[in-house]
Amino acid sequence: MTNQNNVIKFYSGEQIPVELHKVRMVQKLFLKPIEERKAAMEEAGFNTFLLSTKDVFLDMLTDSGTNAMSDNQISSMLQADDAYAGSQSFYRMEKALREVFGKHYVLPAHQGRAAENIVSQAFIKKGEVIPMNYHFTTTKEHMELNGGKVLEIYADDALQIKSDKPFKGNIDIDKLKDVFSTYGKEKVAFVRMEASTNLIGGQPFSMQNMRDVKKICEENETMMVLDASLIGENAWFIKQREEEFKNAEIKDILLEMCSYADLVYFSSRKVSSTRGGGIVTNSKDLYMKMRDLLVLYEGFLTYGGMSVREIEAMAVGLNETCDETVISQSPSFIAYAVNELDAAGVPVITPPGALGCHIDAMGFLPHVPQTDYPAGALATALFIISGIRGMERGTISSVRDENGDDIPADVELLRLAFPRRVFTLSQTKFVIDRVKWLYENRELVGGLEWVEEPPLLRFFMGRLKAKGDWPEKLMAKFKEDFGESL
Ligand SMILES: *Cc1c(COP(=O)(O)O)cnc(C)c1O
Repeated sequence: MTNQNNVIKFYSGEQIPVELHKVRMVQKLFLKPIEERKAAMEEAGFNTFLLSTKDVFLDMLTDSGTNAMSDNQISSMLQADDAYAGSQSFYRMEKALREVFGKHYVLPAHQGRAAENIVSQAFIKKGEVIPMNYHFTTTKEHMELNGGKVLEIYADDALQIKSDKPFKGNIDIDKLKDVFSTYGKEKVAFVRMEASTNLIGGQPFSMQNMRDVKKICEENETMMVLDASLIGENAWFIKQREEEFKNAEIKDILLEMCSYADLVYFSSRKVSSTRGGGIVTNSKDLYMKMRDLLVLYEGFLTYGGMSVREIEAMAVGLNETCDETVISQSPSFIAYAVNELDAAGVPVITPPGALGCHIDAMGFLPHVPQTDYPAGALATALFIISGIRGMERGTISSVRDENGDDIPADVELLRLAFPRRVFTLSQTKFVIDRVKWLYENRELVGGLEWVEEPPLLRFFMGRLKAKGDWPEKLMAKFKEDFGESL
């Protein structure tokens, strides 16, 4: 069967994404009154990471480890084979990885960043560069810890908020050639491509781009590494947006994508809706360079820091990544939200990507300067008026320079994650409605300032407060418009 799109047409002509699953296990949610939401936000120091889920209605902080598991995944966890070495659970996962990614050697790791640690230690030497479409937070840290330098070589317009370019995650081929001529192939540790490029709005690359990158890697005898954490959704976009693949099977798209990479690593928190991670390759030589590090940092070769239950669920989840109804669910709900918000004039990243709906906070709150943290302010305002928890991806997530000044982020984004098969369409409509209301009342939202600013990873643990009494004014307007409604 081809083109198992979640989007269906109503008799009225309206098109909506429909849930191609039924809910058989549920978790109760609480939508608290606005006074309690505002108090919870104050308690959390205007930082959505510090909220307790008992105060959150829709948790759109991240898709990491929060995707819904299938009935088959849950039931597989009961047959898990507990053994330090040689567990049957591991062999089932190894088989799934060989089938889905087409790679023979498998190294399990406790999560994606653990795989990054091993890849970076094994293949990056001090002074080397690593060209890539865009960095991911943990990727960059591991590469720099090992003395490497990240070079982001996306196309000039990839960070443009409003765009109709289908593959903003592509590597710019001319820039890649320049990297090799500037540094020389000896100084390039490897080229990294990240599927559904996380930090620029979940934007995919095309298969043609992979082929072009591979060709240059081969000419320069340089290894190509694929971060496959969000590969399912990228494969879905290739099928949707790249003419050559419109009738292709997802499993064939996945195999072709992986075939260009010498080494593939991933976070199972995303790709297979479980926990854990891993590295796969067809090269015995590359495998041997990583094997001993794996045992040192993660655990024995047949569990790598994961529980056997996770390993079983991962094997099943990997096969489900080939199912179009699974991998299209999150992108089709994101597309619905992005298109509705875009039509209402709300500044959102287009075209819609994977993992979440990304709101441009500088376009949303032009009166809040970057020094007052517009993305953080927007995240807190949205929580107060709706109980929806998003994640700030802007200057608060950045750092200060040696003079103690903020380094303004390239883009100020509020990310509303759509974990796979977690939210329904009425919940999605609630998100759209409350974001639209906030946009109409945007002039009421002010900035934030620090109360406690940790020197390291300040976005996780830092505490802020509102500049002025804007949260009170926002609450008053909400009550005027919505009355007793939550
Ligand atoms: C989440 C993520 C990682 C890190 O994975 P963890 O399991 O959270 O450690 C690496 N790369 C990408 C693209 C990711 O999205």
